[in-house]
Amino acid sequence: LTIDDAPTTRLGEKLDLLESLKIPALFFSTGKSLKKFYTIALEALERGFPVGNHTFSHEGASRLSIDQFYGEVARTDELLERLYADAKKKPVKAFRFPYGDRGWGNFPENLVCPPERTQHAADLQQILQKMGYAQPRFTGSFDERFNSDSILNGADTLWTFDYTEYNYDEKSYPLSVILDRTERSDPENWLTLNAPEYSQIILTHDHDHSSDLFEHLIRTLAAKDFLFRLPEF
Ligand SMILES: [Zn+2]
Repeated sequence: LTIDDAPTTRLGEKLDLLESLKIPALFFSTGKSLKKFYTIALEALERGFPVGNHTFSHEGASRLSIDQFYGEVARTDELLERLYADAKKKPVKAFRFPYGDRGWGNFPENLVCPPERTQHAADLQQILQKMGYAQPRFTGSFDERFNSDSILNGADTLWTFDYTEYNYDEKSYPLSVILDRTERSDPENWLTLNAPEYSQIILTHDHDHSSDLFEHLIRTLAAKDFLFRLPEF
């Protein structure tokens, strides 16, 4: 389970729930949120939830120059270094691109890098590698499209199942639509949560506006009898 855009002021109650269900999770925080809610992020780390880098201001990497991208990662890296030192823990160097934008557009809509973006994408990956970022080692078997060289060799962490709860709106995108994604079998649209042959890297968020849904989403997952594991870093 991965949780992006943390922390918010409601992270503590989410940690309580995850701990009560014995579900480990990997967080990805923006530098912006880390700065604002530093002590909340520290609490997550001290409670055993690793925190990764999600850039400073959550800008899509295809819209950033190489220098801008470096600044985004480095500013957040500095905050994370301090966080891990304060928690007296060895830093986990995991990185996730906002929107899964690895330099040529959002994931998974833009799965294959177009030739004219290949160099830009490679330069971004090189920055991550130089700063010590690496993709954690996930066990299990994933959807074939996830096993591409580009993804497997990346220093970043993507996902295979997206709750899309950030679209939550009582009228236009209600909870029923979000929960339906957990039940439907539609491999074309990356909906394979119930396919026993696949492991999943699940994406959800620590957002204020969907915080009321969090418990429901997590309990739905817990009821599926998954074995939840952190990857090896
Ligand atoms: Zn994000």
